[in-house]
Amino acid sequence: MPAGPRRYFVRTFGCQMNEHDSERLAGLLESEGMVPASALEEADVVVFNTCCIRENADNRLYGNLGQLRAMKQRRPGMQIAVGGCLAQKDREKIVERAPWVDAVFGTHNVGHAAALLEQARGQGPVVEILEAAETDQAEFPSALPVRRELPFAAWVTIQVGCDNRCAFCIVPSVRGKELSRPFFEVVEEVRQLAAGGTLEVTLLGQNVNSYGRDLALAARRLPDWRGYEHLTGKEWASADRPRARPLFADLLRAVARIEGIERVRFTSPHPKDLRPETIEAMATEKAVCPHLHLPLQSGSDRVLASMRRGYTAERYLERLRAAREGVPDLAVTTDIIVGFPGETEEDFVKTLEVAAEARYDSAYTFIFSPRPGTEAAAWEDRFVPAEVSAERFERLRRVVERSALRAHEARVGRTEEVLVEGKSKKGPAWSGRTRQNKLVHMEGEGLRAGAVVEALVTQAAPHFLKGKLVRVVAEPRHRNLIPVAAN
Ligand code: SF4
Repeated sequence: MPAGPRRYFVRTFGCQMNEHDSERLAGLLESEGMVPASALEEADVVVFNTCCIRENADNRLYGNLGQLRAMKQRRPGMQIAVGGCLAQKDREKIVERAPWVDAVFGTHNVGHAAALLEQARGQGPVVEILEAAETDQAEFPSALPVRRELPFAAWVTIQVGCDNRCAFCIVPSVRGKELSRPFFEVVEEVRQLAAGGTLEVTLLGQNVNSYGRDLALAARRLPDWRGYEHLTGKEWASADRPRARPLFADLLRAVARIEGIERVRFTSPHPKDLRPETIEAMATEKAVCPHLHLPLQSGSDRVLASMRRGYTAERYLERLRAAREGVPDLAVTTDIIVGFPGETEEDFVKTLEVAAEARYDSAYTFIFSPRPGTEAAAWEDRFVPAEVSAERFERLRRVVERSALRAHEARVGRTEEVLVEGKSKKGPAWSGRTRQNKLVHMEGEGLRAGAVVEALVTQAAPHFLKGKLVRVVAEPRHRNLIPVAAN
């Protein structure tokens, strides 16, 4: 083992929630004196932050772990940790299948990762999976130091867990019940980010629109309303005028008004809980970006009911119409599952119809695959044959790409505000995102990641725009940080 500080490498699987947890893990390891490794092969400590939502998540993890086995044999002292959703689900199974893993931790004890690795150095493999965090506060990795992936844009967790029971989803079993982070804590974190030069924040939760519901319940259990302030902030703490709870819209407004924050995004709102107040806040707060990710999942009421989604296609479209009417130039994206157990051709045609009517700017479309531990995984007698799902997937892709291309073509000739993210992977150009979250590849000299520019849109494709730099509106104001790897 070379002298000097130990080097760590965090590999992330899955969603933004996991990527943000990885930022916390990186911060935690750095607070223990470790430094980032530039590649996995150079790391003394490798952490896999896993996800069990994506297809073949376990095969990918065990494949990755298999590759590390020989490396670890060559390098005594190297340590491997596995955390996240799949670890929460598989628990001891991970060290049974890969006994060269040193530490396994779940979704409720991210903050213990460094201590578990230390413990494993003395006593061999350690598995610690909790059913819930020791305190509500510890559910939020917010208390941990963070090593942000992008210095000018940050994820901020506002809620963990989920109280819904969608038949295809493993989240409630691995992330636990829905818990909102106290209002003032979110606002304070964003204030600190803004002070460090962050321009854009994305508020993260499994169902952001039900934010605050549990805060009100917790407050009602307190002996008097003064305790409410501790959970929500002064505005909701008045003893003579106690409000039910801070709504998500209140949080959006508070964050959007913090000086220095120019873009606020959020993901994901559940369609059944999308309230007019949220649309109103999107419409009136300048910093809230005109982009709504509203997961549809299916356009068939029959399928939606068996998924336990809690809305019909018409109800979904009504809410979408209200959002489009309220928020000018709104971009809308979605998630759709194709081939859910029992989905007939008639059901699927309804999905195509809703997708066409919704005029999505883009969609994450997935072919159903059973996730062990979910209700739908047991409905084998209703599984849709793979070739049928593949053919439907292709038809849906064409419908979504058609509306995306139309929406993008309408932007050609317009000047858009772009937050520059870095050099484009497609040639010598720069890439960034518009306020509608559209990816733009731009020609332009001397740009820097984190700058805000104006770009003239010259070309449209279903998944991106091309443009030319018009002018730099603002140079970056952040301090530079080192990225965490993701895949
Ligand atoms: S709302 Fe449904 S899909 Fe989303 S996290 Fe909760 S259970 Fe999963």
